Amino acid sequence: MGEQGASKGKNLKKTADSATGTAKSRSAGAGSARRAKPADAGASGAAAPKKKPGRPESHLAMVRRARRINRELAEVYPYAHPELDFRNPFELLVATVLSAQTTDLRVNQTTPALFAAYPTPEDMAAAVPEELEELIRPTGFFRAKAKSLLGLSAALRDDFGGEVPGRLADLVKLPGVGRKTANVVLGNAFGVPGITVDTHFGRLVRRWKWTEQEDPEKVEAEVAAIFPKSEWTMLSHRVIFHGRRVCHARKPACGACPIAPLCPSYGEGETDPEKARKLLKYEMGGKPGQRLSPPPDYPGSPAPPLGAD
Ligand code: SF4
Repeated sequence: MGEQGASKGKNLKKTADSATGTAKSRSAGAGSARRAKPADAGASGAAAPKKKPGRPESHLAMVRRARRINRELAEVYPYAHPELDFRNPFELLVATVLSAQTTDLRVNQTTPALFAAYPTPEDMAAAVPEELEELIRPTGFFRAKAKSLLGLSAALRDDFGGEVPGRLADLVKLPGVGRKTANVVLGNAFGVPGITVDTHFGRLVRRWKWTEQEDPEKVEAEVAAIFPKSEWTMLSHRVIFHGRRVCHARKPACGACPIAPLCPSYGEGETDPEKARKLLKYEMGGKPGQRLSPPPDYPGSPAPPLGAD
């Protein structure tokens, strides 16, 4: 990391710390029900949620807590955004198909060469399959993904005049495009509110007891009932940001989590603040983000190009 990168890194740490501190102090001051007393704190003083023993949470209380979590996350991640690099709906659609079973970082490192070779659906539909496969190989499952890209490009060319349709019903008919991909495209390329239930979103909302459902469509429906439509797209980004940075699948960083006082699963991960801070990822951990071209308000540094990470 160069001098500029090092100073950015320091700023990031400050951002992560201050974001955590802000949300914690806001939460802690908001009411005695959620204020962490010394007895609640872990061995190293991490703020733990105060539980009301023996009383199941009412639906109304859960909705209020869920909306509060959303507000806290909006303060922590005011810059939350889709983490795939794209310049138009076609690029977002292709990038989202490629993102199955891999990281957005890997997709972002792969798509510059792909879109340089095939900038439009017409170009991609006419690709030599082996050449297309080679370009997307770093994203894994490249034969199946190439088949989807060839199929969806041909469908866009033949059925939609070379344009990505802006309707869920049309998008899900394209090869390799499910409801999740369609919602990502609608929410971020067309401004249509949608909830994206990916692996992070599903895991976190279950940890927060917003739902017990495992099926993504049922999760989507239950979470949609908690929030106004206008919140759906940004809520999805915030929750996914938190899942990638703090509330990881195997080792959630509970001791460094800004919404710990609102989380019924606090303690599922590392509660020691020092150890938990080391688990933070991307800009929260002072490291590069996933996008090679992040938006101007992103507080972290851009991801490295392919081969440099
Ligand atoms: S990191 Fe821990 S406290 Fe934070 S949301 Fe996840 S499980 Fe809850």
